[in-house]
Amino acid sequence: MNIARRKAQPVGEGFAPYRWAAGADEVAARHEIPREAVLKFDQNTPPLPGVPQVPLTASMARLADYPDGAYRELCEGAAAYTGLAPGNIVVGAGADDLILLLAQTFLGPGARAAVSEPTYALYRIATTLHGAAVVDAADEADLVWACNPNNPTGSWVEPEELVSLARERPDTILVVDEAYVEFGARSCAPWVDELENLVVVRTMSKAFGLASLRVGYALAHPETAAVLTERRAPAPISGPSAAIAAAALREPRLGDVEATAAERERFRTALVTAGYDCPPTATNFLLVVTDEPLADRLEAQGIVVRAFPGAIRMTVRRPSENDVVLRALGAEPGPAPGREATVLRTTTETALRLTLSLDGTGRVRVETGIGFLDHLLTLFGFHAGFDMELLAAGDLDVDAHHTVEDVHAAVGSAIAQALGTREGVARYGSTVLPMDEARATAAVDLVRRPHAEVSLAFAGDSVGALATSLLRHALERLAIEAGCTVHVEAAGADDHHIAEAAYKALGQSFRQAVAPGGAGIRSTKGAA
Ligand code: PMP
Repeated sequence: MNIARRKAQPVGEGFAPYRWAAGADEVAARHEIPREAVLKFDQNTPPLPGVPQVPLTASMARLADYPDGAYRELCEGAAAYTGLAPGNIVVGAGADDLILLLAQTFLGPGARAAVSEPTYALYRIATTLHGAAVVDAADEADLVWACNPNNPTGSWVEPEELVSLARERPDTILVVDEAYVEFGARSCAPWVDELENLVVVRTMSKAFGLASLRVGYALAHPETAAVLTERRAPAPISGPSAAIAAAALREPRLGDVEATAAERERFRTALVTAGYDCPPTATNFLLVVTDEPLADRLEAQGIVVRAFPGAIRMTVRRPSENDVVLRALGAEPGPAPGREATVLRTTTETALRLTLSLDGTGRVRVETGIGFLDHLLTLFGFHAGFDMELLAAGDLDVDAHHTVEDVHAAVGSAIAQALGTREGVARYGSTVLPMDEARATAAVDLVRRPHAEVSLAFAGDSVGALATSLLRHALERLAIEAGCTVHVEAAGADDHHIAEAAYKALGQSFRQAVAPGGAGIRSTKGAA
């Protein structure tokens, strides 16, 4: 037997390692569909990332230094956010790290931990990993794992119920995992100073949209917190992660939480109306109780959900993305809140997925494989005030032509879909935009008369890997697909600036034209 297997400490009964759902690449390969067409509903993370509120260069400039091992700023941020004191905070590399720290601190061979299934898989893993036994009932346990709201059921209890359990059993550690608390449940945080046996676990991965940073924190009585901090790794969180998380906690921008909760109800209502058993939830995901192999069926269409025995769990994403699942499940989406669209397009030349919301805040993620194109579309989306996620993989081995054109066509088509009837929009937008020595003008009319006049006075053939000659035609495609009139003109000494100015000006013009509150498409001729 391998030495590691021989020498590894024995695990408790029922240990099985953590398993992720299939990744986008794996699903794409399994079903012979493009990676970009795969939509992931399995991670319970928001579709758009949280935005760092500190300059990244500052923390990145100190990569040779260890982070502050006391994580003072992060503890202060978590304290301010939860209404507690820094002494109540224990930080970790994600809630997972804290769950493992709790197991390491309080469990070992002979100890028992209560897990009420179905719940988050890591409680059983952490318990058995430390040689302890899993039991069903709290009254037999040294430690109780409680997930509130619960993953994967989405159900929740009032904190008073958990607080009475902690009061009744002062010799039992009660861990309340509140990973999803921001989406609609009440917290046990106000009781940690009173109850030494209560530990609340939180994460930056869900409502804050910062899962990649791996930051979590626990809330506990100062003495309990001190015991946990003594036993944690010296510096479990990277310096840049700690800095970004601290800033996010100091100034939380959780605008998406309300929208997610509203969308969750729309998503759920459509499923219930279609006859699915989908219980209420206080989280950013839905559980559908079913004996049918829905997860496999959805996966074959590029929709990845989390499968459980007798159920599937789906993360609430953007309305137009959720509509893709609803249609796949034979449910009627119903009117979506907000003006947005998801475009999925696969040809022999390009595969792409774009979700675009007209009423966003300029959060844009673009990955096309062409750096300068990503940059231009990011500028466009930002200046238009759109939220936009665009993933594209084109035949760049041929050249950039198909990718550049198809991506612009998709943006146009998403704008057209998101605009719907075009009633009540401002209709016109126009901008003059300087960019150092370059100057661009753009004008947009949302009337349904597709037309484009594009004049970009480039001196050279390319900027980065992008042939400048492609942009004129691409912008024309955008205008045609958006079903509107677009004029863009730009000139200057530097091709990079000319292109940037043009996309910024066009973005600004769209921002004005799509703004609600106008008379919409009205013409002196009576019809547009
Ligand atoms: N607790 C629960 C209930 C979760 O669902 C998850 C994420 N899947 C976590 C904790 C892990 O959070 P983190 O990303 O902070 O490790």
